[in-house]
Amino acid sequence: MNNTPKEILSKYWGFDSFRGSQEEIINAISNGQDVLGLLPTGGGKSLCFQVPALMKEGICIVISPLVALIENQVDNLQKLGIKAIGLKGGLKFTEVDKLLDNCIYGSYKFLYLSPERLQQELVQERIKAMNVSMFVIDEAHCISQWGHDFRPAYLSCSILRELHPTPPMVALTATATKRVSDDIISSLDLNYPFVVKDSFFRKNIGFGVIQTEDKNGRLKQYCQQIKHSAIVYVRSRRKAEELSKFLVKNNVKAAFYHGGVDQKMKTERLNLWLEDKVQVMVATNAFGMGIDKPDVELVVHFQIPDSVENYFQEAGRAGRNGDFAKAILLTNTTDKVLVKKQFIEILPDVAYVKMIYKKLNTFFQIGYGEFTEAKFYLNFNEFCNIYKLNTFLTYNALQLLDRNSVISLSENFSKKI
Ligand code: ADP
Ligand code: MG
Repeated sequence: MNNTPKEILSKYWGFDSFRGSQEEIINAISNGQDVLGLLPTGGGKSLCFQVPALMKEGICIVISPLVALIENQVDNLQKLGIKAIGLKGGLKFTEVDKLLDNCIYGSYKFLYLSPERLQQELVQERIKAMNVSMFVIDEAHCISQWGHDFRPAYLSCSILRELHPTPPMVALTATATKRVSDDIISSLDLNYPFVVKDSFFRKNIGFGVIQTEDKNGRLKQYCQQIKHSAIVYVRSRRKAEELSKFLVKNNVKAAFYHGGVDQKMKTERLNLWLEDKVQVMVATNAFGMGIDKPDVELVVHFQIPDSVENYFQEAGRAGRNGDFAKAILLTNTTDKVLVKKQFIEILPDVAYVKMIYKKLNTFFQIGYGEFTEAKFYLNFNEFCNIYKLNTFLTYNALQLLDRNSVISLSENFSKKI
């Protein structure tokens, strides 16, 4: 077990160098320090703890929010010949008991479980008996009410500290707002953590806002050109079903996904989409965390998203393989009316909003002021600061809007980057 991080990286994963802050994070963990790692989706958060866990004695305990994520990570580790266990839902008491025994007496390196599992007394007792190398809270934004996927059970992660006060605690997320990171640090009681934020800049995604009175027509046009995969985000279940039907009628291999679809169908549809048998998934934000397909070439927001944060997380599912990808927000005059209504109802300080609009209009040098949801824009400044996207969005928005066609521009754009 005296390998260096680089040796572990190449021995197990066959990669020859670390990305972004991976190495710094690994070093901090190796030195026993707590860590808060803010790395974008696809930034390689898993290796940040998997590598040091292989360098340390004992078992690394990972709290992860979704069965699908747990299965995926455990499978991947097992394929590499690393001993890992995932506690899935639906296991019988005796099965859980046996698996946890393996973690105490076997030479397992990783135990993945949901925050709900962690609330079980049996599980806590057993963790107490384990030789724990470190605790990892993956998708740590779930602990914060300011995050986009608040999960009350995540608050119980703090119990881990009581079970074992000394192993380092590593929190990882792709949400980089200050409110969320402050929340994570205080809820997990991180002790002088090493906080690191990687760039969230996604140079291969072309962002565009397209104003059109024929959203359906546009959508159809985009979807018919898809080679691999696309996601279309809508705000209601009804809309998801309606649009998916519309696309299917137009010979697009589409399906819908939302919170009301039963679990079995969800898994089935997700798999069809992963296998390219369904190309376009029309979905609400229930199609979210853990959706990790490398070749998503298009993410369309058919309606304005709830917040800029959500927008970025959703649009960021495009282009994870580094290929050029598009994120398109479709908008029309009806949206404009809607926005005006919200504009007055939600925001008490109209003068402030107007000021922001003005700034943004100067910023983009285009007149699309009012047609986007007020809330969306209000957060825009903060958003740009966090993600350092200013120039990028400016560049793209100008390019895309000038010619009013993302498709022709994407080629142009990809030549330039
Ligand atoms: P995140 O959890 O931050 O979204 P993952 O940990 O799932 O990202 O990693 C995303 C992809 O990047 C994975 O396919 C992973 O194997 C790959 N990856 C991570 N680190 C490296 C690296 N240093 N070199 C090459 N590929 C890497
Ligand atoms: Mg991850």
